[in-house]
Amino acid sequence: MTRKEFIKKSAKLGMGFPFLSMLLQSCTKEDVVDPGFEVNFSGKVLIVGAGAAGLTAGYLLDRSGVDFQIIEASPVYGGRVKRSMDFADFPIDLGAEWIHEDPSVLARLISDPSINANIEIITYTPDTVYNWKDNRLKKQNWGGNFYSEFKFKDTTWYGFFERYIAPNSLDKIVYNSPVNEIDYAGSKVIVTSVNGDTFAADKVLVTVPLKILQEGSISFVPDIPSKKKDAINSIEMPDGLKVFIEFSERFYPDILFTGSLLSEISAGDKLFYDAAFRKDSDRNVLGLFTVGEKASVYTTLTSDDEIMAQVLNELDTIFDGKASQFYIKHIVQNWSKEPFVKGSYGIDFLNDQATTVADLTEPIDNKIFFAGEAFSLDNGATVPGAAESAYAAIETMLQ
Ligand SMILES: Cc1cc2nc3c(=O)[nH]c(=O)nc-3n(C[C@H](O)[C@H](O)[C@H](O)COP(=O)(O)OP(=O)(O)OC[C@H]3O[C@@H](n4cnc5c(N)ncnc54)[C@H](O)[C@@H]3O)c2cc1C
Repeated sequence: MTRKEFIKKSAKLGMGFPFLSMLLQSCTKEDVVDPGFEVNFSGKVLIVGAGAAGLTAGYLLDRSGVDFQIIEASPVYGGRVKRSMDFADFPIDLGAEWIHEDPSVLARLISDPSINANIEIITYTPDTVYNWKDNRLKKQNWGGNFYSEFKFKDTTWYGFFERYIAPNSLDKIVYNSPVNEIDYAGSKVIVTSVNGDTFAADKVLVTVPLKILQEGSISFVPDIPSKKKDAINSIEMPDGLKVFIEFSERFYPDILFTGSLLSEISAGDKLFYDAAFRKDSDRNVLGLFTVGEKASVYTTLTSDDEIMAQVLNELDTIFDGKASQFYIKHIVQNWSKEPFVKGSYGIDFLNDQATTVADLTEPIDNKIFFAGEAFSLDNGATVPGAAESAYAAIETMLQ
């Protein structure tokens, strides 16, 4: 299923959810899907990449008593789960933001009945929905019926990982170490970083973004099977961008689509939205989320200043100059320019998705395993999908 189909499906399912905020009181046994796998492995594991998939893998290995290290290219963990604490009076998700499915998925990701997780959730059903098409701004509040998802009330996806998943791995992460070679020819797998550091392990889990694999930034010795290479190259990972702007007045609706409302809702590839929606905030913060061709319009510009000028210009046209009039500050997160991500997420599978994901996730020589958002069949292109793919890979690895 592509992200587009997934969001369409979630939107339909979401129509039945209550309009009240929800509190996940605790992970009771009923909420929890026990990972339930036996551990028949006592060697060392290296995880390449400390995003949602890599951190979840570390969480599971720690709980399974398996020795591991995470080799991360950047100076921070989280990958496409990233947060700003100081832009507004509430934390802002610069990458993943929505919970595209029933929030009980959070309990499943923690999957530990001993953890008392109190996470307040917003039912994200916009009240005011506008559509800008053919130079006309139209109010289309019925559109809110097609858009029902969830968000964190006072935390973020990053905050979720920081609190519940990452602590098990913090002292195991080696930062600033982009891996450029994985040699699995011998009895041990040798992982080398661009700094020249080498790490040895019995098994390796690769969780880098698809684009990193597509560009061949990591050499495998021997080369990976052509079936896997073909699968990696058969998925598109287009451009992705988020922008947040603070204004002194609120002149915008909960959600503003540009173009055809229904196709935008199902595609979910460009929307302006009130980022403070149902948060405890005194600020007026507008978000722009865009992926795919619509994102490329911005991400291919030469600087964040140019991106911002284009966004303001667009909003001024729609809202009669109010954007420039009430502008205070902004933050641009250009995911296409992030050196260790280089885009949004895997969508638009060239071939049958089930076959592609099966080829992607098949381990090599029982030594090299793969996980990440593009490696999930049911929840691809999402944080839960990335985490669930790590569950699957670690279960297979430790059997
Ligand atoms: C704009 C945008 C909006 C999104 N919105 C949502 C949303 O609302 N809800 C949702 O659920 N999902 C959303 N997503 C998708 C979600 O963010 C991803 O699916 C998920 O975070 C991917 O996790 P991952 O672990 O697969 O990859 P990543 O988070 O990308 O982690 C991979 C890690 O590998 C590291 N790495 C890369 N190269 C190397 C190397 N050579 N050596 C070592 N480390 C390396 C990277 O630095 C990174 O830390 C969004 C994504 C984007 C870009």
